[in-house]
Amino acid sequence: MNYVSTRGRAPALSFEDTMLSGLARDGGLYVPETVPQMPAAEIRALHGLSYEETAFRVMRPFVGDTFSDGTFGDLIEKAYAGFGHGARAPMVELAPGHFLLELFHGPTLAFKDFAMQLIGQLFEEALTRRGERVTIVGATSGDTGSAAIEAFRGLDAVDVFILYPHGRVSEVQRRQMTTPSEANVHAVAIDGHFDDAQARLKDMFADDTFRDGVRLAAVNSINWARVLAQVVYYFSAAVSLGAPDRKVSFTVPTGNFGDIFAGSIAKSMGLPIERLVIATNQNDILDRAMRSGDYRTEGVAPSISPSMDIQVSSNFERALFDAYGRDGAAVAQLMDELKSGGGFHVSQGALEALRERFDSGRASEEETSAAIARAHAEMGELICPHTAIGVKVAEEQRDPAVPMVTLATAHPAKFPDAVEAATGIRPALPERMANLFDLEERITRAPNDLSALQDLIQERIRT
Ligand SMILES: *Cc1c(COP(=O)(O)O)cnc(C)c1O
Repeated sequence: MNYVSTRGRAPALSFEDTMLSGLARDGGLYVPETVPQMPAAEIRALHGLSYEETAFRVMRPFVGDTFSDGTFGDLIEKAYAGFGHGARAPMVELAPGHFLLELFHGPTLAFKDFAMQLIGQLFEEALTRRGERVTIVGATSGDTGSAAIEAFRGLDAVDVFILYPHGRVSEVQRRQMTTPSEANVHAVAIDGHFDDAQARLKDMFADDTFRDGVRLAAVNSINWARVLAQVVYYFSAAVSLGAPDRKVSFTVPTGNFGDIFAGSIAKSMGLPIERLVIATNQNDILDRAMRSGDYRTEGVAPSISPSMDIQVSSNFERALFDAYGRDGAAVAQLMDELKSGGGFHVSQGALEALRERFDSGRASEEETSAAIARAHAEMGELICPHTAIGVKVAEEQRDPAVPMVTLATAHPAKFPDAVEAATGIRPALPERMANLFDLEERITRAPNDLSALQDLIQERIRT
């Protein structure tokens, strides 16, 4: 199983090298050369299996010979052992035929733990075997950073630097990043937005000398292994609702397009998904692009769903690659236009291909709060603002004949201010992390400047 770049000018890599490098050298993102198929009988056979066993069967064909079956199974077991729910990704029925897939039972209370906890295990195993070390640099709007620090803290083969926008993450998110005391983890508050952090990360990857010098690796949602780990819960959810013998739709609160692209891979593998609905907040570049064909950045307007305050949606490039018939040169051209002119126009054919696979909707700040209040008043459920965006869009767009699953991407206690403002109730942190507010914080401030960030990393890494 090999992986190719969405820009067509980087060498094809194995799963192991794809995972360890993150971004391709031509600036593109790696995707599988062909998507393995899962026949209906194999999907049916997932009924009643544990989450871990489902994960093994869904991901195995993508991993090639990077890990033996036994090792891969053990790493999956370890990855999910720290979750606070035996089902890992349980579902609750919010309204008749409308389900919430609870992806927030991991150690940092957001869905990103599903991928990050697994990646931590896979990196440690692969690097130890190779006798190598890497420097992981990540950009976060809050949840990726805490999930990465939690997954990599204390590992010998890895130093981790997480760039987050100063003052634009919630206090729980910040404390989850700044309180781990291990010497290999560094939370760096930069002066700027998430898009600035992500842009500096991409600049570091484009600087070959720096990239090779510190052995840079990325665990942002552009890392293929993260997308892969997220494919699993589309299977577990759909199977529990009757797949492959019944179709299911999903609505996904979307920022960087990683989570919903995982759903698209599940569909390409053969999972009978009826609709995949993109739900955005007021930073709605994806919804606008799907409606008009014009993908154009505007300024980021901070919202009560900060993990979706994104304008450049990196993983959308993977969907574009498919929509353009896997023409890497065409994708490279679009990305050049994005960089130089702030946007591009999607061709009519590609737009039709995108619309065939994805629907989209958005929620304003008021609509988000109203959805939080409604879920509480009508169903007694406290939901986080990101989840609320999904719920609002799902309610608008769902076909009553097809079960709809909305991804509940974070625990309400991770965003207590927004939940309290909408419902009057301040959601409590789960017992196992109740001491978060007592721990000491370690914060590094840095300017939104490439060479300053590179110097900081070079000074701090252990060699
Ligand atoms: C990261 C995140 C999202 C957006 O996910 P993408 O994969 O970037 O689309 C939505 N909700 C929460 C809580 C998140 O942490």
